[in-house]
Amino acid sequence: QVTIVGSSNVDITALMARLPGPGETVLADSYQLSPGGKGANQALAAQLAGAATEFIGAVGQDSHSEVALGQLDEEGVKLDRVARTIEPTGVAIIQVDSGAENSIAVVSGANSTVTGEAVKAAGAIEGILVLQGEIPASGIKAAMDAATDRIVLNLAPVIELERDYLLKANPLVVNEHEAALILAQLDGSESISTEAEPVIAQKLMDHGLASLVITLGANGCLVAEQGSEIQQLPAVKVKAVDTTGAGDAFTGAVAARLAQGEDLAEAAVFAGRFAALTVQAHGAQASYPRSLENL
Ligand code: ADP
Repeated sequence: QVTIVGSSNVDITALMARLPGPGETVLADSYQLSPGGKGANQALAAQLAGAATEFIGAVGQDSHSEVALGQLDEEGVKLDRVARTIEPTGVAIIQVDSGAENSIAVVSGANSTVTGEAVKAAGAIEGILVLQGEIPASGIKAAMDAATDRIVLNLAPVIELERDYLLKANPLVVNEHEAALILAQLDGSESISTEAEPVIAQKLMDHGLASLVITLGANGCLVAEQGSEIQQLPAVKVKAVDTTGAGDAFTGAVAARLAQGEDLAEAAVFAGRFAALTVQAHGAQASYPRSLENL
């Protein structure tokens, strides 16, 4: 069992020749509504990677909520503890130009109500807990306090979290930029390290993390566990067309395989194969493999 406590959004993506400047209106060519939010993406990935998965979060009492939760519902993710709030469903308003440059405004909406109080009220957390940085820190901490199994922490975006809570991650799963930001947080330093990823990984482990995965895009990932050497796992060589949601696919798949009893390196190898499938198709949730036959 995997339980995700996190965000769900609707991505409103408009395609246009060029992005509007301040005060300007441009005519866009088309738009699309698609489900997103790191929590929801990771919940779908965990379910598709073979774990019985529950998503705990919040959406509004609006029609966007159906888009936000549609895929999760269709694939059988448990949604009984998703709150329906007066706040609207979270949205990401995304403008993309013909050169694939984008500008994005995120409205947290209902996600901002996933506070410590709300998470406490939701009750027991079953199985492996997966968290991201798109809900209030109080919600993250309350979920950690209620966890009874390992905690997969994908602190993206990086928000402030006390050291004791950061160190509950087992593993912390982050990309190289996030890893450097979290190291600065743990060091209490203003400056962000530009050292090589294995050095950053070692320094994070020296702070006392039980385990760590740093994802490196097409270069695969680093896996670190207390008591063993840091391993670099290569990515699968594929032609990437859209890497949106690849990190979420990876995190959800790692959690699913840990829940099935694999060790962290085995889970990361599987997650790398799972994520590599997703970069070969467009979209986030739309690109996640509905069958594991090709893995
Ligand atoms: P994020 O989007 O959070 O920065 P990454 O870009 O590091 O995450 O991607 C997460 C994982 O997805 C990588 O560790 C890798 O396994 C897989 N992945 C991402 N991009 C590619 C790619 N171009 N080819 C193969 N695998 C990829």
